[in-house]
Amino acid sequence: MKDSFKHQGLRQQLVKTIKKKGIKDEKVLNAIGKVPRHLFIDSGFLDHAYQDKPFPIAAGQTISQPFTVAYQTELLKVKSGDKILEIGTGSGYQAAVLIEMGARVYSIERQKALFKRTSKFLPKIGYHPKKLIFGDGYKGLPEEAPFDGIVVTAGAPYVPKPLLEQLKIGGRLVIPVGEHSQRMTVYIRTGEKEYDKKEYDYFRFVPLLEDKN
Ligand code: SAH
Repeated sequence: MKDSFKHQGLRQQLVKTIKKKGIKDEKVLNAIGKVPRHLFIDSGFLDHAYQDKPFPIAAGQTISQPFTVAYQTELLKVKSGDKILEIGTGSGYQAAVLIEMGARVYSIERQKALFKRTSKFLPKIGYHPKKLIFGDGYKGLPEEAPFDGIVVTAGAPYVPKPLLEQLKIGGRLVIPVGEHSQRMTVYIRTGEKEYDKKEYDYFRFVPLLEDKN
């Protein structure tokens, strides 16, 4: 698994691009500048790894656009040591960015094949999540709650209640909400039963799928 000067150079270009698009948090930009995105992408797409675009990965899913990853990560306001839950592990790229920022990462994926692949892959390139879980993100991870932050990386038709309940007071849920396009929404838990809600830009995510049984 190789990183090279060429890849590092391309990554710095990518950092410039997402900075121009509005990402300001230096810690986020720094993490994007470090994670070797080309290793997350099927070899056929290698040349495109550092363009600011989403790409197909295994099982008909996608690795999110770097700008989108940066945007969500910025809204999470991650501090080193924070306990973060991600819904939708996918390729593991978002998880790697969070780990790079010093977060303790828990991540849930509902597709077995992706879960297995990413569970093997991340440690191989030096990223060690606290736990990767094969399961349903709508339920969150009650046994590890509360979390400083929760990030949902698939489009949610509605906000799953367990995710709100699994936040620390002061914790943040970053979730794209909507059916066809999604509005990036942040819930900040301000009390036992109180939340502040903030709305941001529109995006298009693959759907957060619900098991109907
Ligand atoms: N964070 C990923 C992006 C993954 S795309 C990355 O950085 O590459 C969204 C992922 O959410 C897909 O892998 C999809 O299988 C997963 N997903 C969809 N519905 C889910 C659910 N209910 N629970 C957990 N994961 C889900």
